[in-house]
Amino acid sequence: MKNWEANVRQVVPYTPGEQPNQEDMIKLNTNENPYPPAPGVKEVLERLDTGTLRLYPDPTAGELVSAIAENYGLEKDQVFVGVGSDDVLAMSFLTFFNSGRPILFPDITYSFYDVWAELFRIPYERPALDEQFHIRKEDYFRENGGIIFPNPNAPTGVELPLEDIEEIVARNQDVIVIVDEAYVDFGARSALPLLKKYENLLVVQTFSKSRSLAGMRIGFACGNARLIRYLNDVKYSFNSYTMDRTALAAGTAAVKDQEYFRETCRKIIETREWTKKELRSLGFSFQDSKANFIFASHNVCPAEELFQALRKRHIYVRYFPGGRTENFLRITVGTRKEMEIFIDFLKKYFKDREKKRPE
Ligand code: PMP
Repeated sequence: MKNWEANVRQVVPYTPGEQPNQEDMIKLNTNENPYPPAPGVKEVLERLDTGTLRLYPDPTAGELVSAIAENYGLEKDQVFVGVGSDDVLAMSFLTFFNSGRPILFPDITYSFYDVWAELFRIPYERPALDEQFHIRKEDYFRENGGIIFPNPNAPTGVELPLEDIEEIVARNQDVIVIVDEAYVDFGARSALPLLKKYENLLVVQTFSKSRSLAGMRIGFACGNARLIRYLNDVKYSFNSYTMDRTALAAGTAAVKDQEYFRETCRKIIETREWTKKELRSLGFSFQDSKANFIFASHNVCPAEELFQALRKRHIYVRYFPGGRTENFLRITVGTRKEMEIFIDFLKKYFKDREKKRPE
């Protein structure tokens, strides 16, 4: 036996949600947007001159960066773009978390954070959410090598008030604090206005959720120009042409249609609030969600049983077995019609289950 395996970088990879593909499925498992992207996206893709694909894309992603900067009232040198926010976050871990001291993120959060930390050999600690699945800001007031958390948090959907975020950023000015705002457009307050005050803050967002472009892979980070320059230095040391021509064109069209964006977010929020009401009356409990998903547990029926029953009917939700999430389902908010079918299925399921119970 040769010992080459001793020097392999062995990692436990992130497990992405299932991507089933059935005609009659209702897909509520990976927090995608149920509506198509803005009409302008279709137009630019149809008009795309395939002849240009022989040429490398703009390595600075200038057009997309400008559109994002303009939309958020920032300078172009305050915006970094990547292949989905996963790419942006991975680059950020690599760029900013190098002190050798443990970085901090919640025990229940986006399960990619510990994967990147392990991959890049960054030590980390995971302060526990409180009983109500809320982040305790005080847990982040100790020495650390950097901080990251989503707001709203995933998979809980719970928002941390902007005042608490500011306190965390203000008390940690010797390290970088990353706020992952993948779901912020569904009703939470963004930390972007804090960029004027704090140079150690990086705000990361994505086009995968509120802009209906999960399939295109576009994410971005906003911060002060120096942070962004460091991020770009690492990106150019890795892969200069991260954003392809189709993504640049589609992303630019999407960000320019603010009206469509606001309208789809509004519809999702409305459907989320309707779904909350229905779930509550069916015996589910959950913390208030400001995201495009609800993290709920039922007062009698175990989450795993429900997960399997829904799956049989080709309704896909996400289940994270083990630990404190064992009895919860993360349910993405789909269209009103999809949520009505989902709720009707549950009503019938609980009724039949009740009937089957021995007297
Ligand atoms: N952050 C959080 C909290 C997420 O849930 C996700 C979606 N899996 C991402 C980042 C990454 O999304 P994307 O790479 O599609 O932008």
